[in-house]
Amino acid sequence: MCLFRCLGVAGSPPSRSKGAHNIASFADLGISKPVVRALARRDIVKPFPVQQLVVRDALAGHDLLVQSPTGSGKTLAFGVPLVERLAPDAGRASALVLAPTRELAGQIVAELRSLADARGLRIAAVYGGVGFGPQIAAARRADILVATPGRLEDLIARGAVSLDNVRILVLDEADRMLDMGFRPAIGRIVGRIPVKRQTLLFSATLEGATGNIAAAYTREDARRHTQAQSKRDKADIEHRFLHVDSPSNKLDHLVEQLRDGGHGRTLVFVRTKRGADRLVKRLRARRVEAVAMHGDKSQGQRERALARFESGAVRALVATDVAARGIDVDDVTHVVNFDAPGDRDSYVHRVGRTGRAGRQGTGISFVLADQADEVRRMAGSLGLTREFDRGRQGPDRGPDSQSRTRRSRRRRTKVSP
Ligand code: ADP
Ligand code: MG
Repeated sequence: MCLFRCLGVAGSPPSRSKGAHNIASFADLGISKPVVRALARRDIVKPFPVQQLVVRDALAGHDLLVQSPTGSGKTLAFGVPLVERLAPDAGRASALVLAPTRELAGQIVAELRSLADARGLRIAAVYGGVGFGPQIAAARRADILVATPGRLEDLIARGAVSLDNVRILVLDEADRMLDMGFRPAIGRIVGRIPVKRQTLLFSATLEGATGNIAAAYTREDARRHTQAQSKRDKADIEHRFLHVDSPSNKLDHLVEQLRDGGHGRTLVFVRTKRGADRLVKRLRARRVEAVAMHGDKSQGQRERALARFESGAVRALVATDVAARGIDVDDVTHVVNFDAPGDRDSYVHRVGRTGRAGRQGTGISFVLADQADEVRRMAGSLGLTREFDRGRQGPDRGPDSQSRTRRSRRRRTKVSP
């Protein structure tokens, strides 16, 4: 019996990881010495559970649909088999990784470059907001392209990139890549890739209807893996819901939190681009330094904002959902949903910017009275009703009293879920 085999993808139950497996090294998974050494140089020695779960199947050439929690190591779960399976081919792109944002495309390249080097493969990022010249030159020589859909289509239209030779296609954040915004472009791009290929789809949220749409992009005998969160994984993120009695109080609460010595890097999510700029101004007026990141900023501004946040020069990054997917910044201690997330998946991805790779983190969601029912339903669907109701205890008595309550609560229970 093959524990992870899925007989017919759509509608069939996914396999579930039963927790930690016991594969001690990447060599045990059949990974070559040069790649094992390249990983070890970055202190990456033992495969994470999702990597233990999928690397062998990926190496064997199966199509995969993989769901595993935020920060669980999906990039290497597809990246390691990718570099293993490819050989340099006269600079013709043999693999294409699609991602929803420029920053994520850049991070995937950064994560995979040393592994590609170890195998003599060239990897290039293709994303908008920067000049065409250097990008085209790098893309023409690349074995592996990591791209956002818009710029990739631009390069195809200019004749700078061909997908005729692609053998492996990866959709990272697959459900996002296949939602209404991106799906037409993905359809056109996939139509240019040979049918005889391996397709790998990864996300933290890949269930229900999105999972079935995703399945349509893979072969009949694709394997579906779901790495369920272990209790320990769940304890990595503390979920708090802070009931706030008026929109103007949200700023007071945020200021108080950002001044709290216990906060390290804090990612603050808002609904709109203008809302992000406005909040940064209001924070600065209260002498709290913050930077904004959203889709109307130039690529240079986006990169500078992220770099200042990563270096610790500024502790608060105020962002729209453009920063919710995939981005991996070390030591984000807190994620604040200043504005409520649009849906459950958005909550999962936003809060998933903290508590990554086994670290601890806290997600704090501000809840206004008229949003309470909706947010409670969302929390319930994530198994967080207890956390939601706990935040409801007692009226909003202003930031100071909330803070006192929180501190004493924190002493009682170190991590709640
Ligand atoms: P996901 O895509 O699942 O959200 P990432 O691929 O961004 O997660 O990985 C999260 C972090 O974990 C990254 O910083 C990555 O370098 C690190 N990581 C991944 N696999 C391992 C491993 N086997 N050992 C140590 N660190 C790892
Ligand atoms: Mg990822």
